[in-house]
Amino acid sequence: MTPREVLALLREKEVKAVDLRFMDFPGLWKHVTIPAEALDEHSFEDGIGFDGSSLRGWQKINEADMLLVPQPDTLFLDPFRQDVTLAMICNIQDPSTREDYPKDPRNVARKAISYMKYSGIADAANFGPSMEFFVFDDVKFDQTTHSAFYYVDSNEAAWNTGRDERPNLGYKVPYRQGYFPCPPTDHLHDLRSEMMRVMLDCGMTVESHHHEKATAGQCAIDVRYADLVQSADAVLKYKYIVKNVAHRRGKTATFMPKPLFDEYGCGMHVHGSLWKNGNNLFAGSGASGLSELAEYAIGGILRHARALCAITNPTTNSYKRLVPGFEAPTRLAYSQRNRSAAIRIPVYSSRPRSRRIEYRLPDGSANPYLAFSAILMAMLDGIINKIHPGPPLDKDIYDLPAEELKDVPTPPTHLDEALKALEKDHDFLLKGDVFTDDVIETWVQYKRKEEVEAIRLRPHPYEFALYFDS
Ligand code: GLU
Ligand code: MG
Repeated sequence: MTPREVLALLREKEVKAVDLRFMDFPGLWKHVTIPAEALDEHSFEDGIGFDGSSLRGWQKINEADMLLVPQPDTLFLDPFRQDVTLAMICNIQDPSTREDYPKDPRNVARKAISYMKYSGIADAANFGPSMEFFVFDDVKFDQTTHSAFYYVDSNEAAWNTGRDERPNLGYKVPYRQGYFPCPPTDHLHDLRSEMMRVMLDCGMTVESHHHEKATAGQCAIDVRYADLVQSADAVLKYKYIVKNVAHRRGKTATFMPKPLFDEYGCGMHVHGSLWKNGNNLFAGSGASGLSELAEYAIGGILRHARALCAITNPTTNSYKRLVPGFEAPTRLAYSQRNRSAAIRIPVYSSRPRSRRIEYRLPDGSANPYLAFSAILMAMLDGIINKIHPGPPLDKDIYDLPAEELKDVPTPPTHLDEALKALEKDHDFLLKGDVFTDDVIETWVQYKRKEEVEAIRLRPHPYEFALYFDS
């Protein structure tokens, strides 16, 4: 779509406001709104100024001015706003140099694609995240830790939370058996269908939705893969729609990786394949119909997986998900079917077009632009350096004796461990100036100070259970 076509659409749909969206450094959508009258053809060229100093992990106060440059091919009508509102995702530029801002995560993703094309290996990267999330009825404020959300509750698991529900009409999900029950047990069916419908109206392609395995309120809505940048754009649109539909129905949604102890966590498994001249480079005759190139891509991801975790699993909560027994990966191995391995080769279809790998470590707390770019860079490193991953591990890793697992590496157990791994191993990310040293340093410092340290300093609720009677 050209700027002129956007302006024609504004008139045709009687748009009142234009909402400019961009991604902050850790990975949330931010927005600023202008009246529709203020958007003209120059806005797409000159951009719209904003103050970047107060955003997490960005500019210092003395170099705060930034430009938002709206991208016409990302537009959609925001279905949640009272006035007709057109939303567009923006790239970020420095107004003095007119260069793309190196810490804009979308810019990192665009550079990763340029680097891939320049390498001659592939001309397209298809990425398809499969996201999981929880829907809750209530969150509570916790005074002791000064945090807004500590305790969550869902009436779906009334028996589980000890809530006195009268009358109790039954049809509760048995403990950790939330996978695919029909309503009335699946009481979030209509909510998910509404989310699906809004996603379709906003131009997304939805494949299916269902209740996930956890006892209470865990949902999955699968959307179609797309090229890397578009797919990362779609993750943010997806989260926006899920949160806003839940909100309008008096509920709340979270993509936090492990909100509930002893329950399934939420992943953002990333399905990926590389393409050239319309051919899937991952299709071949090796393990599970994969090509040698795909095996090298797997080798690259596994080699760098511990460092990647600092970006794909970037919160202290992420590591509470990566434990045995909940279908989350616990070993840096690959497997044809096994959900306990970091990489799975899905065998839903034998068509070469659908050959892909599924990287199961990432979770929804990741910034999708940075996560997808880092995964792509690891794949390219594996391909360039012919890093072979060895044979697949086609066993249930949770049940294997320690002896058989002694040579299979594990992901980090804590965010700080992942940040240290990234500090040691990030040369593969700097290729083609995709991630700069400044981006890596800012990321590590931000995560350490604002998250690892912030958590370390606060008394944990469970410490009261352990130590109150000291
Ligand atoms: N919820 C699981 C995870 O934490 C994944 C379940 C599935 O394979 O869909 O990754
Ligand atoms: Mg799932």
